[in-house]
Amino acid sequence: AFAGFFRRVKSGETPGYPRFRGVNWFDTVDFPKDGDGCRWDSTPHDPVTRVRFQGVGHVKVNRHRPVAGRVKTVSVKREGRKWFVVLTAEQGEPQPLPATGSVVGIDMGMANFLADSGGGFVPNPRHGRKAAAKLEAAQRTLSRFPRCKAKDRTANHRRAVEKVSGLHGKVRRQRLDHAHKTALGLVRAHDFIAHEDLRIRDMVKAPVPKPDPGRPGVFLPNGAAAKAGLNKSINDAGWGVFLTILTSKAESAGREVIAVDPRNTSRTCPECGHVAAKNRPNQDTFHCVACGHTAHADTVGATNVLRAGLVRRNARQG
Ligand SMILES: [Zn+2]
Repeated sequence: AFAGFFRRVKSGETPGYPRFRGVNWFDTVDFPKDGDGCRWDSTPHDPVTRVRFQGVGHVKVNRHRPVAGRVKTVSVKREGRKWFVVLTAEQGEPQPLPATGSVVGIDMGMANFLADSGGGFVPNPRHGRKAAAKLEAAQRTLSRFPRCKAKDRTANHRRAVEKVSGLHGKVRRQRLDHAHKTALGLVRAHDFIAHEDLRIRDMVKAPVPKPDPGRPGVFLPNGAAAKAGLNKSINDAGWGVFLTILTSKAESAGREVIAVDPRNTSRTCPECGHVAAKNRPNQDTFHCVACGHTAHADTVGATNVLRAGLVRRNARQG
């Protein structure tokens, strides 16, 4: 860097002074080709997996699942104090799964991660809530330290930073794991999956403003602030990740995924088609004021999502 700096000074250019790149500068190192500076060791009978880095030597790897296909690139990533080896591998064409003849609609919610049109529920992972509480505490601790440059931080301050970043990583990995398992279950069981379009949902699902009857022009609290809390933000990110994974798994399995407009899916009676906000007396219950049909509100939502999805599919094909 300095040789380049002086060369530019001599030739009359305006060089930038070389910047010191300390240990905290690098978070990821990429090896664009396996075997070039780094080698993924896969001795089939050795129970210990190792990766070899030029100038470092063999490093043991805690491999969480077998590598399928031929390793193409290797990258090493740091998250807090943990190091991860990320591999990309070349695989053959994915084999589409055999048809099951089953279709499903899903409704993503706060109480349950999702409800399906068959009456099934996938609860929100408990560990997610636990991690969220820990994260909140760690962030509170971190907020007590004054803002300053990384190099001026005290040991306690650095530990607090590490704790927050470590917990963020944990939440992200758990969310990914949960999303992969849930998506795989759906893709294996159904040929066609309909879900709510999250972009439209975010626009329409904000709580309705409540006017104060005594004072015109004044609104009562409607819970919008509470809804925008930490849990919600974690859930929202979770649904986005989940839908991305679901779509890609469905594609390689030859399944169809359709996003539908979520408006009125929670207020329409699946039996008689009556649309009314009163059909949903509370968060969990659906009770049709016209025909008396009663079910779990999220199951009703998922059923309506499935119907809307099938209508869209037929319109596309016809
Ligand atoms: Zn009805």
